[in-house]
Amino acid sequence: MPIENLMEKLVSLCKRRGFIFQSSEIYGGINSCWDYGPLGVELKRNIKQDWWRRMVHLRPDIEGIDASILMHPDVWRSSGHVESFTDPLVDCKNCKQRFKADEIDGDKCPVCGGELTPVRQFNLMFKTFMGPVEEEASVVYLRPETAQGIYVNFLNVLNPSRQKLPFGIAQIGKAFRNEITPSNFIFRTREFEQMEMQYFVKPQEDEEWLEYWKEKRMSWYISLGIKKENLRFHPHTPEELPHYARKAYDIQYHFPFGWKELEGIHDRTDYDLSRHSEFSGKRLSYYDEGTKNHYIPYIVETSAGVNRTLLTILVDAYDEEPERVVLRLHPRVAPIKAAIFPLVKRDGMPEKARKIEELLRPHFNIFYDESGAIGRRYRRQDEAGTPFGITVDSQTMEDDTVTLRERDSMGQVRVEADDLITEIKRRIEA
Ligand code: ATP
Repeated sequence: MPIENLMEKLVSLCKRRGFIFQSSEIYGGINSCWDYGPLGVELKRNIKQDWWRRMVHLRPDIEGIDASILMHPDVWRSSGHVESFTDPLVDCKNCKQRFKADEIDGDKCPVCGGELTPVRQFNLMFKTFMGPVEEEASVVYLRPETAQGIYVNFLNVLNPSRQKLPFGIAQIGKAFRNEITPSNFIFRTREFEQMEMQYFVKPQEDEEWLEYWKEKRMSWYISLGIKKENLRFHPHTPEELPHYARKAYDIQYHFPFGWKELEGIHDRTDYDLSRHSEFSGKRLSYYDEGTKNHYIPYIVETSAGVNRTLLTILVDAYDEEPERVVLRLHPRVAPIKAAIFPLVKRDGMPEKARKIEELLRPHFNIFYDESGAIGRRYRRQDEAGTPFGITVDSQTMEDDTVTLRERDSMGQVRVEADDLITEIKRRIEA
């Protein structure tokens, strides 16, 4: 059963529990900018770490980079962004509100019914100036995607890594788009983070790799515990295909506000490396030792949003039961892995619990809580998505065992305190 007003409840939980707050809130906030608090930053780091581990560390064929946000402005001319990274914009002549033209039906303002201006193309790149003089010659852009930092470094990575086709380059970093209508909490914002991987392949092998990455990327979301029925592929229609792509799929998630893109998987052909070769005068090609010729590789791209993945994980994990709200976060991404509770604040239990905390802290992000009734302490952690609760009780003082409570089932088992590290690690990886 869908949960009523899920987005409102989630926004309020995120604020209350320290996941996400509005940026510059004490000054009245700034539209579409969000800050990640103590729990939010952990969740975000865990998502990025898991992506990096699976896309880079576990794969001999993928290298990582971290390119600069500001790049030579010619990068954006050759990529096509200066010319065509635009959205169609209309203004209401009456109430002055702005809309993306392709999001409204009819020719009247959806808010007040007023007359609309003709459509103008609005470039989504943020501009700024490099150096002290604010003139056209010193304009630079905040990157609207991380991908271009990978393409321009193709040879810089290929040469020292001595990779052979097919191989990939991965990057996680901030991107900026001056969106006309940012909306739905952190779903669409003007500043966000991307996790992108560009896979370089032989020209005739692009279709095959597109299918491979499509399945691989879907299985990542499923491995994070996201419900299969809320995920689907959306193949791009010819009208939807971006100018650089021959074929593309979106992975979509069923948000409370509809099916929306979570990640794009694109067959970009040799478009990017050819354009950068042409505009820079430096040929970005590959020497194939097998066939003894030079050619420009094709690229299959997987482009995911960190913040959008985080929102998806929260939406999918949020659950209400009569007695509690619970975030059923996968233990791999949960901000706090285990909470430690002395049952009561006497009889040596707090000291014992502190000892266990010390034992576990080098291995996991841990939370210690001794205040209030044990049921309330459990519920506070359920709402924060903490998968395991460890309780020190009178039996612990006798035989050094503790209760280990699992968040979703609320089932409890007795475990030797010395086995906790192994037991929790096993459960996180399960
Ligand atoms: P949309 O059609 O939603 O604007 P897009 O097709 O322009 O998205 P891509 O350029 O393919 O998106 O970007 C890849 C990924 O980056 C998206 O799937 C999304 O996860 C993330 N992303 C893009 N724009 C934003 C944004 N404004 N806010 C948050 N995440 C974004």
